[in-house]
Amino acid sequence: MNKRRKSKPVQIGSVTVGGNAPIVVQSMTKTDTRNVRATVNQIKELEECGCELVRLAVPDMEAAGAISAIKKGVKIPIIADIHFDHRLALAALEAGVDGLRLNPGNIGEPEKIKKVASAARERGVPIRIGVNAGSLPEAKNPKLSIAHQMVEAALEQVRLLESLDFDLIKISLKAFDVPTTIEAYQLIAPQIPYPLHIGITEAGPPRTGIIRSTVGISTLLWLGIGDTIRVSLSAHPREEVIAGYEILKSLNLRQHGPVLVSCPACGRAEVDIVKLAEAVEKELLKVTKPVKVAVMGCIVNGPGEAKDADIGIACGKGRGVLFKKGKKVRTIEEKDFIKVLMAEVEGF
Ligand code: SF4
Repeated sequence: MNKRRKSKPVQIGSVTVGGNAPIVVQSMTKTDTRNVRATVNQIKELEECGCELVRLAVPDMEAAGAISAIKKGVKIPIIADIHFDHRLALAALEAGVDGLRLNPGNIGEPEKIKKVASAARERGVPIRIGVNAGSLPEAKNPKLSIAHQMVEAALEQVRLLESLDFDLIKISLKAFDVPTTIEAYQLIAPQIPYPLHIGITEAGPPRTGIIRSTVGISTLLWLGIGDTIRVSLSAHPREEVIAGYEILKSLNLRQHGPVLVSCPACGRAEVDIVKLAEAVEKELLKVTKPVKVAVMGCIVNGPGEAKDADIGIACGKGRGVLFKKGKKVRTIEEKDFIKVLMAEVEGF
């Protein structure tokens, strides 16, 4: 894996993005921001599964006004997603928002951008410039590839903020197309000192969206690019956070809760391993400690294949062997598999 690109950290409330800070997992609410109770409840669900930053759509003044009440009910920093209307950005800042996502270029007159930049600077609130391939401004040079056009658009916005003496900047360059996204981030990474928010936009429902996002995000992380990630899914945002952590855990970039090792099953399996693994996975969602748990389909190969696991079960007919670090400990009845496994996890 390449060494992580050095970036100038920004502070979003209590969370640092960039520099040497851990790669931050974030998501976005899918509630109507004006509905304070529903939004707070969804953010609390996200906090429970480890979400570290959350973005809210702020389409009007009522949504901007709801931010202060939402902030009172939640712990993690809030980022307001704003388009076109600089008054919404000013109202969100007034309401105590921790970060803004807006493109200064679509705010309009320089005076308006200046007002937003100066209010954000006063409060130490960073701005994410978020370029999406689907909504690029008209290209100055249409012959450029989409990735190059995305980078040009982002750099233009960066220059605009820098000219106003504003440097609390974070950047994202997202496309649905994975190679385009990777190319865009590779192009911009050496040109700016700011942290990068990475992700694949509109990636789809979980089955395909997680794969698409994982391919894009993990390729970039492997190249040393990325300071915060969002997996965008047509699903409850909890799934985005779980997927985000799984990507980071798979690359050994973060530890977060358990890791489940389960064999794919084969003709040797004497238990419904798919059902068992699903049940264990569900139980492990409640666990926050970093423990590696294995569920294996046979006694012959189970413990050996999962020798790195902290705790596991190698299943036989109606019974299974409990093992720790690949060493057999004792035999347990099939009806007790989950109960015993979870008790061991608890005591680990
Ligand atoms: Fe087959 Fe046993 Fe390996 Fe599972 S652990 S895949 S059942 S050999």
